[in-house]
Amino acid sequence: MSNAAIRIAFIGLGNMGGPMAVNLHKAGFAVSAFDLNADALTRVKEQGVTAAASAEAAVQGAQVLISMLPASRHVEALYLGDQGLLSRLAAGALVIECSTIAPASAQKVAAAAQARGLAMIDAPVSGGVAGAAAGTLTFIVGGAAEALERARPVLQAMGKNIFHMGDAGAGQVAKLCNNMALGAIMAVTGEAIALGVAHGLDPKALSQMMAVSTSRSWATEVCNPWPGVLENAPSSRGYSGGFGNDLMLKDLGLAVEAAMGVGAPIPLGEAARNLYALNHQAGRGGLDFSSVVQLLLKPR
Ligand code: NAD
Repeated sequence: MSNAAIRIAFIGLGNMGGPMAVNLHKAGFAVSAFDLNADALTRVKEQGVTAAASAEAAVQGAQVLISMLPASRHVEALYLGDQGLLSRLAAGALVIECSTIAPASAQKVAAAAQARGLAMIDAPVSGGVAGAAAGTLTFIVGGAAEALERARPVLQAMGKNIFHMGDAGAGQVAKLCNNMALGAIMAVTGEAIALGVAHGLDPKALSQMMAVSTSRSWATEVCNPWPGVLENAPSSRGYSGGFGNDLMLKDLGLAVEAAMGVGAPIPLGEAARNLYALNHQAGRGGLDFSSVVQLLLKPR
């Protein structure tokens, strides 16, 4: 089947969903999109995507439904209940849920979809806004292998890597594991550089050494939290752009919730969640999450 013959409904056209919907349109799919925010809808319309008047209108005749919403409550409200989209999809349709949400929420919606004979995968992403725009996202998938195979050509138009982690909810669990590690690594990298600087070390020289030594990570190589160390890192432009502190805080909250569900100890994950909560309270919720290092600096 040619891409043009595949009708995709896309709900949620924010920082991530907007460019993802545009990439599907560029790949030739027939995309009908909706967002509650009129400006977000207009932005994708200007790039050729068909704007629908409502979520219900967007899913009419759709073979595939993709959603990219802020959090669990938005996803459950969109899909479940008498007015939910699951009750409006044509038999045999495929749901690809890309938001980062609680694994339990993903499982709840997947069970409701299955009860209606609809296939669904959870497919949260990694790669940020730049990856969404460039079509190089990583999809971290939970759900049946057959559903993933049906979704694969659609995912490939928006991303580069696809990992199948297991059954429904497994994509969300894996995404939370990744972001929990990232959050803790960023915080401790900032802590290490702050310690060195307090001893008179040059943060750039220290970071360069760490970037090729055993504490090497994305935080030392790509997104160094210390201003001026890496020219292209958010820290060098006032922590603008990048991955917001409050999104990291949300993901760490989900990780804590997921850990409690199975009684898993996550001492560093919980400590990291508190650090990003403090950074939010310090007024940096909207800045890149690497601004967490600012908590450790002496006031001037
Ligand atoms: P965003 O806030 O920019 O966009 C969300 C959009 O959903 C908004 O435009 C909002 O109006 C819309 N929306 C909410 N409820 C809706 C509804 N019922 N119907 C239609 N539209 C609705 O968020 P984002 O940055 O695009 O992130 C989306 C998801 O992707 C989140 O779960 C986030 O954690 C995850 N994520 C974000 C990034 C990132 O770097 N921004 C990276 C990876 C994953």
